[in-house]
Amino acid sequence: MSSPLDYCASRFQAKRRISREVLVGGVGVGGTNPIRIQSMTTTNTQDVEATVKQTLALAEAGCEIVRITAPNKKAAEALGEISKKVRAAKCDVPLVADIHFLPSAAMEAVKHVEKIRINPGNYADKKKFAVLEYTDAAYNEELERLHEAFSPIVLRCKELGRAMRIGTNHGSLSDRIMNRFGDSPLGMVESALEFIRIAESHNYQDICLSMKASNPKVMIEAYRLAVARMDQEAMNYTLHLGVTEAGDGEDARVKSAIGIGTLLNDGLGDTIRVSLTEDPIYEIPVARDLADKAMALWKQHEDIELSETTKDSIDPFTFQKRSTRVIELGNGCNIGGETVPAVIVKTHHSIDAIAPIIQEVCAAQMDLKDSKIEGLQVAIQHPEDLAHFASLHEALHTVVKAFVLELGTDVDLSDLETYEWPEDGLAGITLLQHIAQEDAFYAASFLQFCRDKGFNCAIDCNADALRDEIGVQLQPMGSENLILTRSSPADARHPVGSYRALAEAANDFVPDAPIWIRNTAENTLDPKSYFSDRLLESSILSGALLCDGIGDAISIETEPQLAKATTLAYNILQGARSRISKTEFVACPSCGRTLFDLQSVTRKIRSRTDHLKGVTIAIMGCIVNGPGEMADADFGYVGGAPAKINLYVGKECVKYNVPAAEALDRLIDLIKEHGKWVEPA
Ligand code: SF4
Repeated sequence: MSSPLDYCASRFQAKRRISREVLVGGVGVGGTNPIRIQSMTTTNTQDVEATVKQTLALAEAGCEIVRITAPNKKAAEALGEISKKVRAAKCDVPLVADIHFLPSAAMEAVKHVEKIRINPGNYADKKKFAVLEYTDAAYNEELERLHEAFSPIVLRCKELGRAMRIGTNHGSLSDRIMNRFGDSPLGMVESALEFIRIAESHNYQDICLSMKASNPKVMIEAYRLAVARMDQEAMNYTLHLGVTEAGDGEDARVKSAIGIGTLLNDGLGDTIRVSLTEDPIYEIPVARDLADKAMALWKQHEDIELSETTKDSIDPFTFQKRSTRVIELGNGCNIGGETVPAVIVKTHHSIDAIAPIIQEVCAAQMDLKDSKIEGLQVAIQHPEDLAHFASLHEALHTVVKAFVLELGTDVDLSDLETYEWPEDGLAGITLLQHIAQEDAFYAASFLQFCRDKGFNCAIDCNADALRDEIGVQLQPMGSENLILTRSSPADARHPVGSYRALAEAANDFVPDAPIWIRNTAENTLDPKSYFSDRLLESSILSGALLCDGIGDAISIETEPQLAKATTLAYNILQGARSRISKTEFVACPSCGRTLFDLQSVTRKIRSRTDHLKGVTIAIMGCIVNGPGEMADADFGYVGGAPAKINLYVGKECVKYNVPAAEALDRLIDLIKEHGKWVEPA
């Protein structure tokens, strides 16, 4: 399935998709309402006091909708008591019952809460991971059975004025859907559409939709496809965005920002949940920041007329890396082609303070084990700064693969031509110059100078300039030694749109020139704080582009600490599944079904296994949903019963009821048996 399907007003400007508003209690979701923040309790639902306490704490922290699991009828009944106590505390936050398998639990819960969440993959549908063949007749028969099983809760929601989320998760699809569409974004979308059509057949439309996955690329494609398919069927339901099983700490925030932020940049999303394997209270500020940034962007673009469609050659529903030529960055490090994106790190020290730069680089290399800085970016503000470069090069050229010299406007070609460049490691030098439209001839001379010297040439310009005189000058020269980048967005575009436009212009003039994604102060709304701004905005800009297949190198220039900027760059590349440098953890956020302390167990597992490059480990709280939702993990650690763990290889359970105290050692044994273990350095 590809491009003729539209899914947003513009991929170059942030125009909000106006969906059909749904009322969840007194909270309007969708339409022109603000993006609503939601979260989920992690207490045992039948522990009414604890659940009420956590609900009130979430509401106090700014959570606008609170979800509570209802795994069985007793838990669903407890929702009645929870609701009464929450209202008695003068809190009117809407409550949502999270239902998976049991229609009976749904029918009870709907009496007490403002909204029901149904997972089409397991609500009254079969999921036994069986490979079954469905003929058309058998498929339709199942659909009719589903119609009968799902209709009662739809009619009850309609009668009581309750909203409903049809929430599909990757890896949690019914056998019937898997058989026809595979475990794919298309399968997720079609599964939800079947349920929507049943709801609509009863004239019920208070619906919200979600398409979550732990892999942001899958999640982004699924939501886009959902909108495109809804448009085809004249549906306009609200979207609840989330990356599921994102894990904890920086990695989880990065993954959530990539998935949720990319879609918000596209103008999609009415309510969001950031899933963290942490106290749910910590989800709220992350979600708030993401929502505020998106709404600020939408506001900025509200009054700007939609520009004429810029050509867009990217298929937003299927990942494909933009084809680029290989360029030798230095000391055996290439960028472009099939090479994983390189990490360039900017030092914020001036070049005349060489000692701190050296200390910083060495400390960063130590911290990062095998993840090294590939390009060290240093500002050369004035011609006299060039004098310091020789000693910097001498000290670091065996540690740093390449130097990127960011030339100030005072430094011109004559300074570069008269400078005595170091003799070794010249291939590891890239000169970076900001080029304005009127400097087209200079751009060509600059590229030629770099080629003559054996340097690479990074040109920082906007798409319009590249489409105009600069493109005219560069086109006949081809893309040899040329890297393109953009340090600030062009007018009326957001940074992601600005890079997308640059990639399109590059395709027309210098088709295979690699693109370097620069996260600069000008490319962000506000880079003040690390967690609220620098981490989120770098993840959104870089992640959105990497998930589009754009980007051969990245730099986080808003982060002044070299080690932190390097780690963040690697974490973003890992989050976008563009470059795997450590173990990937898929951890559920926990809920009332959880059978062990997810936060401490996740920390323990991480402390012994986080050096396993290329291995994905899922840590899931229960066997009800865990095995289905751990999607593409290599190994799974899943709560099987109280104090007992089931261990999985892929989707197959290979050890049942392992005592919790031994389970981590047995998991490591399994990783060893499958040849994926390496001893930590
Ligand atoms: S996998 Fe985790 S979050 Fe999902 S239902 Fe089980 S315990 Fe709850």
